Amino acid sequence: MARDRRGVCSNLFTDARDHRRFVEPPLSSDGFVAGLVEHLRRTGQPETFPGLYYGPIARDAPFAIVRKITIDRSKRPDGDLAPCPRCGREDKFIEGALAHFPSLQCCAVVGHCCADKKIGAEADREYQRRTAREQAEDFLLSAVPLVARKQDILCKNTPAADEALRVYRKFRKEASKIQRHLRALNRSGGVLRVAERVRAQFETRDMVFGPLEGTTALIAKYSPVQELEAVRILLAEYAGGSTEEATFNYVVSLTADENRRRDAHARLRAADQFWDKFSARLRDFRQFWTRDNVERLNAYGSHRDSPFSFQAAYELVQRRPRITFRHRQHECRILLGAELDEAVLDEWPRAPSVARQP
Ligand SMILES: [Zn+2]
Repeated sequence: MARDRRGVCSNLFTDARDHRRFVEPPLSSDGFVAGLVEHLRRTGQPETFPGLYYGPIARDAPFAIVRKITIDRSKRPDGDLAPCPRCGREDKFIEGALAHFPSLQCCAVVGHCCADKKIGAEADREYQRRTAREQAEDFLLSAVPLVARKQDILCKNTPAADEALRVYRKFRKEASKIQRHLRALNRSGGVLRVAERVRAQFETRDMVFGPLEGTTALIAKYSPVQELEAVRILLAEYAGGSTEEATFNYVVSLTADENRRRDAHARLRAADQFWDKFSARLRDFRQFWTRDNVERLNAYGSHRDSPFSFQAAYELVQRRPRITFRHRQHECRILLGAELDEAVLDEWPRAPSVARQP
């Protein structure tokens, strides 16, 4: 393609070219858009894609961004920049957009910075609004149908949360000194170790019993019931419909209002995060009461040089674990209910994270 001295293109923008007529902007699902994206991926050359407009475009012509476009220079035959019909320059841009110009009833690929300031800002705002809405819609369409299953999982975990709370409270109340000692130990690294005195009591050697597990049992205020309830509250108003169509209509009604849409998006995301907290903590809490952990605790607490002397025992009573802590005259005996084992923690369904524009 010949150029004059200013780099203005001599025939790309002056030759009459056929272009496709677009009264409305093409949808991103339109074959035209998909075809262009694929063509750019291969060639980096919008100017060789049929149907785009390359006549003159005024800088203040209103437009809508159909999708943003980044040109891969390494794909272009000369490694140059892409031409922009709005500037009328051939070697112009890397970052641009497929834009629809209603006054010209056409689509053009233009650079991102050559529009009139006000018109460009308005197109950007409209694009942000539209893509945010589309992404929220996609997310809600996959997330709302999962709410009923999530509510079911919450119900199934209610007994486990109740039992975890009972066990935690009993431990905190009846073995409070042990709990506080282990909490401090956890803060300073969480390893059960004793400096054992040897020979003349001047030398010591490190006795390591292993990691302190299930430290959720040691936190000052563990509230599994409240954590579960927090998820329940977030989900409560998004139970949607019982059929696919009802769900769809419900999502459409949610997304019609910007505030409701934003709320729904944020609350459903938060429900997943709160669930993650609940399930991670409950899983961890159960680790505190395993035979391995209790035996390590006992080895540490009953060592003659332990900084804090206590005993811990794990036994099975009618096939249920019973854990006993002793510190001086205090005894704390906890029988673990089967509900703890029956928690359903691995089946939480998740909406895929949505990204329309690659
Ligand atoms: Zn331009």
